[in-house]
Amino acid sequence: KPLVIAIDGPSGSGKSSVSKAVAKRLGLAFLDTGAMYRALTWHCLNGRIDLHDAAAVEAAARTISLEQNLTPEGEFVKVNGITVTEPIRDPEISKNVSAVATNLGARKELVRRQQAVIAQCGHRIVVEGRDITTVVAPQAQARLILTASEEARMRRRGLQLGGTQSAEQLVQQVLARDAKDSTVVDFQRAADGVYTVDSSDLDFEETVTAVINVVRS
Ligand code: C5P
Repeated sequence: KPLVIAIDGPSGSGKSSVSKAVAKRLGLAFLDTGAMYRALTWHCLNGRIDLHDAAAVEAAARTISLEQNLTPEGEFVKVNGITVTEPIRDPEISKNVSAVATNLGARKELVRRQQAVIAQCGHRIVVEGRDITTVVAPQAQARLILTASEEARMRRRGLQLGGTQSAEQLVQQVLARDAKDSTVVDFQRAADGVYTVDSSDLDFEETVTAVINVVRS
């Protein structure tokens, strides 16, 4: 029986780890769509493709080979056969990814690939990103937005990055990225039929349970 769970939300909302845990618990495949935007960004930077050359970035989106682990266990991302699992998390990528995410031609291509993955997984998958509830999988059996207060998100993001940069710089970077992302996809407000789970005052387990309760409702 098909069970597509679409989860959107801002950075630092705990989306990835919560989505993975939900997939594990329900025995579903898992797709991190942000990793695809990051991998395309890495490919462009690595190949000296100008991120503001819309046609070149779109062409790259169409031609690169992208491989991802589609299970919630472990993680790997490969671009044209090169493993980029760790480099795509670098601040350099986070800083530049919005230039790729605002390229409508590249988005169209990545959305097409994401929909192909959903079909390939027999429509039994948790998909997380920014436009999953609205664009990639508007017909999903369960659609949610995972939010958290700015304070909770920054706290988690700081933990995630291991405190290598000053907290203030991090806050500014994350807010700037969310602001840029919001110009293309409105992931902050739930569309019709989309549930909102606010995790600000929930711990990890409570958040996973809240999401699963929505899926079962
Ligand atoms: O989720 P993550 O923070 O890894 O996503 C990285 C970037 O990819 C986001 O800041 C956003 O610009 C872009 N993105 C997107 N649409 C998605 C997933 C991610 O535009 N579905």
